[in-house]
Amino acid sequence: MNVKHTFVNFFLKTSSKQECHEVLTIWNSYYAALSEKHQESFVVRTLLFLNTTDFGSTEGFELTTEMKLVISSAFVQITFGLKKDVLNIFKTIFVTPTSYSYTGRAILYDGDVNTVTKRVNLSWPAVEKGFVITNDGLNIAIHEFSHCLIIENSNGSFLSKVFNNTDLNAWKELATQKLPLIREGNFTIFRDYAGTNLMELFATALETFFEQPHEFYSYAPTFYRTTAKVLKQDPRNGKNPK
Ligand SMILES: [Zn+2]
Repeated sequence: MNVKHTFVNFFLKTSSKQECHEVLTIWNSYYAALSEKHQESFVVRTLLFLNTTDFGSTEGFELTTEMKLVISSAFVQITFGLKKDVLNIFKTIFVTPTSYSYTGRAILYDGDVNTVTKRVNLSWPAVEKGFVITNDGLNIAIHEFSHCLIIENSNGSFLSKVFNNTDLNAWKELATQKLPLIREGNFTIFRDYAGTNLMELFATALETFFEQPHEFYSYAPTFYRTTAKVLKQDPRNGKNPK
């Protein structure tokens, strides 16, 4: 734990930490695999994120602490190796009881990052499925938070960068080479949607990185290692990913 997290930890209630530990042990397989020391730090980061984020939900839909903890844990998981521990632009997470659409548009969403309202929208059934099925490379919460990190990284000043520039550029260069292959069906570790553009490739790659790290590594070791470098962690080492 760094100095900030040690300080935050001091003010957290033991009962909140215990509740967080119990919820994440059941819900988040990444958390469950961590060493005790890493779990302690993960809990602090999860509660810090939860306490500094505004959660909202559709009227009549009760968003429980358990749901908030599960959603927050997706953010902590991707940023566990990074300094970044809260979102600065996307301060609101809005949760719906079903898939949703925007007025005048036919498309149904399970999640999206809205740069106008500065909100992350998520449908709870999709979030739930993302965590219950741990190894299919689908996790909507990880997907949407990956978008948030790229956006906040590009908006941040030099000092508040989320990612190391050199590492992210190396990733982009490699990803740009893979994009046409994905579109042609000749790079199949990610689902087809990854071929949409670099932004979607990043989010989809992170879902695979966390849910199928061994498969990803065997299929494309250099791409895997480049992704691990950006995130400063390797989920293949379940106990000590960083
Ligand atoms: Zn996306």
